[in-house]
Amino acid sequence: MAAPQIPKTQMAQVFEKNSGPIVFKEIPVPEPGPDEVLINIKYSGVCHTDLHAWHGDWPLPTKLPLVGGHEGAGEVVKLGSLVNNVQVGDLAGVKWLNGSCSSCDYCMSADEPLCPEPILSGYTVDGSFQQYCVAKAAHVAKIPKGTDLAAIAPVLCAGITVYKGLKESEVRPGQTIAIVGAGGGLGSLALQYAKAMGIHVIAIDTGDDKKEMCESMGVKTFIDFAKSKNVVKDVQAASPDGMGPHAVILLAVSERPFQQAAEYVRPKGTVVCIGLPGNAFLKAPVFESVVRMIRIKGSYVGNRKDSAEAIDFFTRGLIKAPFKIVGLSELPKVFELMEKGAIAGRYVLDNSK
Ligand code: NAD
Ligand code: ZN
Repeated sequence: MAAPQIPKTQMAQVFEKNSGPIVFKEIPVPEPGPDEVLINIKYSGVCHTDLHAWHGDWPLPTKLPLVGGHEGAGEVVKLGSLVNNVQVGDLAGVKWLNGSCSSCDYCMSADEPLCPEPILSGYTVDGSFQQYCVAKAAHVAKIPKGTDLAAIAPVLCAGITVYKGLKESEVRPGQTIAIVGAGGGLGSLALQYAKAMGIHVIAIDTGDDKKEMCESMGVKTFIDFAKSKNVVKDVQAASPDGMGPHAVILLAVSERPFQQAAEYVRPKGTVVCIGLPGNAFLKAPVFESVVRMIRIKGSYVGNRKDSAEAIDFFTRGLIKAPFKIVGLSELPKVFELMEKGAIAGRYVLDNSK
């Protein structure tokens, strides 16, 4: 096969400073290092994390200027001199965890998201809101030939993260989980993974668009947190025996639901925190948490194996979450809608436009 033509420059969305201008401009195509590959990104999902990165509202500084994005799906066009696990022409994905040290205790135990020196796409290094992106070869997600790259893009962060979160919840087929933020990007994928795993879902979010989207994916119980007079009572009442769901996964971008989940999860249930609202705190009543034996834990993306498994669910046709495609140039409009909570599902950018 003839080597792909790689241009010297490309279009990218650049965050000049936190909460500052987002500039759609021409920048150089980066050169992969010896252990890296260059991927021609065809589609990139827009995750709420990208909005946090632009605002800089987490206690972790971003690179600046920064090209955001970490749900990039495309084709490998160039290999660093040490790379032998992927080939030019392979389909591959840029994930949030772009690279890790591979020698710390966590990397050695396949807990690489916990590496103390992580390289994060669209945060500490430039990510997928550009046409050509560099990624560590050991960490790129392998995507089977023939895959719809627009549809798989959201799986590369949202899918992997909720798949891992569902595993961490230890909820079993036939049991019930509450998905908080079910109408958003992570939520829409969580509904699909939970369904594929045979888990009943109580969906919590707000607005008719999100309710309709959830119902179109088989959800029987949707609780609108903005309309409900008592979310705790409503969630418990929606569980099969009135005792509350076996687990809760929190994907919301506000603090309030993080304070409620321990109250409505059933005794011995698990609350998995995934959403990352800025400056937020977890609070749970000590007495009830102890005597009801509640577990509260965090879950952070997934390792390489989780990623491969999450992609395999997609490849088997089990994951079909709704998404809308717009051009890369439209990123600021997508952020505006996301900020208002007006996106049901995910937006995916077509990086050629
Ligand atoms: P999104 O904006 O697409 O969805 C968030 C949803 O939460 C929206 O539908 C919104 O209506 C809903 N929501 C807000 N307040 C709520 C409430 N009180 N109760 C129920 N729902 C509520 O965002 P997303 O891309 O799905 O990301 C969600 C969060 O997850 C972000 O904070 C993101 O940074 C974080 N995230 C974490 C990880 C991880 O590894 N832990 C990975 C990816 C994203
Ligand atoms: Zn993400």
